[in-house]
Amino acid sequence: MAEKLLGSIEAGGTKFVVAVADFDYNVKELKKFPTTTPEKTLAEAINFFEHFDVASIGVGSFGPVDVKVESETYGHVLNTPKADWSGFDFLETLKVAFDIPMYFTTDVNSSAYGEYTKGSGLGADSLVYFTLGTGVGGGAIQDGKFIGGIDHAEMGHATVIAHPEDTYEGGCPFHSNHCFEGLASGPTLEGRTGAKGETLPRDHKVFDFISYYAGQIAFNTFVNMAPEKIVFGGSVLQGADMPKVREYFKQFNNGYVATPDLEELIVRPSIENNRSATIGNFGLALKVLKE
Ligand code: ZN
Repeated sequence: MAEKLLGSIEAGGTKFVVAVADFDYNVKELKKFPTTTPEKTLAEAINFFEHFDVASIGVGSFGPVDVKVESETYGHVLNTPKADWSGFDFLETLKVAFDIPMYFTTDVNSSAYGEYTKGSGLGADSLVYFTLGTGVGGGAIQDGKFIGGIDHAEMGHATVIAHPEDTYEGGCPFHSNHCFEGLASGPTLEGRTGAKGETLPRDHKVFDFISYYAGQIAFNTFVNMAPEKIVFGGSVLQGADMPKVREYFKQFNNGYVATPDLEELIVRPSIENNRSATIGNFGLALKVLKE
């Protein structure tokens, strides 16, 4: 009998990452492929797992997705701009192929769980994770559980105030320049400068703006929930930007609430190779197996 393994599906809007690991989260095999149609993409994922004896699978998907277990559309992709995927029954497609326990959540929740169990949040009871990439999202964990009742959180669309010098009209179709994603996603870099984010020097003013929004959202998060860790993942901000984010946090706080050392509070993910979500999915696979 082959070794029992944990499975991970990180379902991104542009690429899928599937992986298997032992129960100590050591990755045994990992594969990436582009996100195309739901049928084709899931067939590729299923084909990958068929080569292993998988005990359970953790799935973190781009959204919006229905994560309410009692809901009729649990495990479905909801109304998304990726037309083929709207209404797709993601979880059932997997369940037909594999009759094993599965945990289904958002991609950002998976990353949050990875950092909570094996990364920057190690030893903390509470953590809020934000990712700044093509989109912006956030997930919150308290005592091992995701915070959220009627739906998953949509922290990327929390209201922020624009930097006084930032004249960008905003990139969110719903909230223009009044929300975090509308002002701090990857595409807003090009929206402001006409150049791809990765080609811009780190001292470009635009990263000061993004740090301003991250500092602002970190402050809001701290006064809302007082978590032990606030983690900023994704490619838009880098480690070098964190001092600025902490500085803006301080400005928004203006001496009001006592905080821990900001270098301990506001951090980057510590799981290497961009694997926070994969590690998180293994943790969620293990969690659902034990339940
Ligand atoms: Zn928005």
